[in-house]
Amino acid sequence: MHAFAPLKGEETADVCVIGGGYTGLSTALHLRQKGYDVVLLEAERVGWGASGRNGGHVGTGQRADQSSIEKWVGAEAARGLWQLGLDAVDTVCQLIDTYHIDCELGSGNLHLAAKPGHAHELQDELEHLESIYGYQQLSYLTPEAVAELTSAQGFHGALLDAGCRHLHPLKYVLGLARAAAEQGVRIYEGTCGRPATSGQSGEVVTAQGRVIAKHVVLGCNAYLGKLVPQLAGNIMPINNFVIATEPLPSHLLPRVNRDNLSMSDTLFVINYWKLSQDGRLIFGGGENYSSRFPRDIKTFVRPHMLNIYPELEHTEIEYGWGGAVGITLNRMPDFGRIGEHLWYAQGFSGHGVPTATMAGKLLAEAIDGDTTGFDLMASVPTHRFPGGTLLRWPGLVAGMLFYSLRDKLGR
Ligand SMILES: Cc1cc2nc3c(=O)[nH]c(=O)nc-3n(C[C@H](O)[C@H](O)[C@H](O)COP(=O)(O)OP(=O)(O)OC[C@H]3O[C@@H](n4cnc5c(N)ncnc54)[C@H](O)[C@@H]3O)c2cc1C
Repeated sequence: MHAFAPLKGEETADVCVIGGGYTGLSTALHLRQKGYDVVLLEAERVGWGASGRNGGHVGTGQRADQSSIEKWVGAEAARGLWQLGLDAVDTVCQLIDTYHIDCELGSGNLHLAAKPGHAHELQDELEHLESIYGYQQLSYLTPEAVAELTSAQGFHGALLDAGCRHLHPLKYVLGLARAAAEQGVRIYEGTCGRPATSGQSGEVVTAQGRVIAKHVVLGCNAYLGKLVPQLAGNIMPINNFVIATEPLPSHLLPRVNRDNLSMSDTLFVINYWKLSQDGRLIFGGGENYSSRFPRDIKTFVRPHMLNIYPELEHTEIEYGWGGAVGITLNRMPDFGRIGEHLWYAQGFSGHGVPTATMAGKLLAEAIDGDTTGFDLMASVPTHRFPGGTLLRWPGLVAGMLFYSLRDKLGR
């Protein structure tokens, strides 16, 4: 796709969106569908953030489990949030369909139990989602049934969710950008936007210009930096890494992933993988909590892949990359509004392909006067990381290391 020029001079718009990932682009597209005039500013290129770098899994529900959500918000709101999670997957599919986005859309996710105890938890989850929410897309697979679908090693059972989707994340975000531009969203790349005041007006200042708007939407997620300091302590950027193998030979493809599912395990530092259309294994695993990526991402992630697929010992790893995941303490996204003019949604905690897309839809509805869905998402209590913006790292690193150590212990 061609590059969009940086903003030079002054623009006026109904809404100025900051950030060209799923949140920003989906907001912009849904606002255009309602007739709003929209300017979108992206500091780098559209899709440069997590939206162009992720694993492409489009999971159902919310990132936090429904039993926890019920405790936090009560049964009725939990039901609404579950439904929003299903609507999020539908919204992704509808956008792909409406705007003819060619992004390798596939179906089904296999969630594999990495420890014996996790297999029981998956069975309990199935029972809970069927009985309380009437969700009928799940089946529990024994290790023998898992072995028919994949040669992945070391698992104790799995939950197959036929309602999940998967896709090529960069093709999806570039498709959204193309559609937004075709629908009349004015996109500026290489343009870092800064809200002039904290929500007291709709002015956004850039290096070479400014935008005067009624509303400003922040879709910067883990790349927010110090842009709006009062939001920074609500999320934590964590680096997560992905590799792509060479195209697998035809005899290995059905062994590794017979039905072209997305797959993930139940570890705290999750491993997740799927095949690309050209037969590569796209494998995500390993994270770090520093400001830097490991020097050699391919070497960093490969052992995680070999633990699960030892038969890929001689398979070449051709690409490796990383990106920042914006996590919250309870793994539920952080939706809110500052003053009259500034709206935000962030902290999708590794579940943003559907949820950030949905956030855009809900932000557009809220700006248009229907805050039902937005308010429901915003009603989930969010907690600031202990230590706020300055001191959140040491506590988080200790916590993360504790949980990743627990991954290595049996249970
Ligand atoms: C390695 C990895 C794997 C993942 N795997 C999955 C997965 O399989 N499934 C899933 O559901 N989720 C996954 N996620 C999470 C998902 O990618 C994110 O939740 C989602 O992309 C967030 O979208 P976003 O638009 O909010 O943020 P981003 O896509 O990060 O976009 C934010 C944009 O804002 C821009 N920006 C920041 N500041 C400014 C500014 N001042 N002015 C202008 N622009 C600015 C940035 O340049 C960036 O492009 C993964 C994330 C990573 C990193």
